[in-house]
Amino acid sequence: MEEGQWRAARGLVREAGRVVALTGAGISAESGVPTFRDAGGLWRSYRPEELATPEALARDPRTVLEWYEWRRSMLADCRPNAGHRALARFFLKCGESGLVTQNVDGLHTRAALEEAGAGAADAALPIELHGAVGRDRCDGCGARSPAEPLGDDLPRCGGCGGLRRPDVVLFGEPLDAAVLDRARVLAERADLCLVVGTSAVVYPAAALPLATLQAGGHIVEVNPQRTALTDAAAAALRGEAGTVLPALLD
Ligand code: NAD
Ligand code: ZN
Repeated sequence: MEEGQWRAARGLVREAGRVVALTGAGISAESGVPTFRDAGGLWRSYRPEELATPEALARDPRTVLEWYEWRRSMLADCRPNAGHRALARFFLKCGESGLVTQNVDGLHTRAALEEAGAGAADAALPIELHGAVGRDRCDGCGARSPAEPLGDDLPRCGGCGGLRRPDVVLFGEPLDAAVLDRARVLAERADLCLVVGTSAVVYPAAALPLATLQAGGHIVEVNPQRTALTDAAAAALRGEAGTVLPALLD
C-alpha cells in the first residue's frame, strides 16, 4: 500500500548513515530534456545507436559533432527541476556526496551550484557515469575543456592536436574505470540507495543498487513505473521525481 511504502521510505532515509542516489533520464523528464530517442530519432534520419559511436566519430566526425551541438542547443533551454534541487539540498546538508547519475545533461551540477549559492557546492556535485555533453575531452590526451560552438574546422586540442569531442561515453565505449570505482565504493558503503528515474537495465550502472543490497543496505525506488529493481526495493514510491523527492527529503 502507498502509505506503507512512504512510511518505510521515510524511516530508511531518517535512519541511514550514508545515502547514495542513482539517477537516470527520468529525473530530467520534468525539465523537458528529450530522451535519447526523441533527441536523435528523427535527426537527419540517423539512429543514436549508430551516431553516438566511436566508429561514427572516426568515420564522420563532423556529423557526430553537429548532432551533439544540436543536443547542446536543446539543453540550453532546460533547467533543473524540483527533483534535482531536492537532491542537491539533501547532499549539501549531508556534507558528503553520494550522488551518481547516468545522465549527461549536467542538470545535477547546475542544481548543486544554484542551491549552494555562495557556499561550496562540492557535496552535491554528481559522479557522472556517462560524462557530460557540456564539456569536451581530447581524444588524444584526455584534456577536458568547456564546449565551444563548432566552426569550419574540427576542434583540435591545443596541447596535442587530437580531436576535441564531447566528454561522454559513446555506445560501445567503456566507462571511465576510476569514475565507476568511486561510484561502486559509495554504493557498497551506503545504508540506503535511492534509485530515481532509471529503468535500471543499463549496466554497469544498474549493478550499483545491488551492491548496496549485497552489503546489507536497502533500496528505495522513485519512479512512476515498475522497473527491474522494484522487487529488490524495500519501498517503491510511485510518482514523479519533482514531487516525490522534495516530499521525501526536505
Ligand atoms: P530510461 O529511459 O531507460 O528510463 C527512464 C525511467 O524514468 C523510466 O523507468 C521511467 O518510468 C522513469 N520516469 C519517467 N518520468 C519520470 C519522472 N518524472 N520521475 C521519475 N521517473 C520518471 O533511462 P535510463 O535508465 O537513464 O537509461 C537510459 C540511458 O540513456 C542512460 O545510459 C543515459 O546515460 C542515457 N540518457 C541520458 C539522458 C540525459 O542526460 N538526460 C537522457 C536520455 C538518455
Ligand atoms: Zn590533447
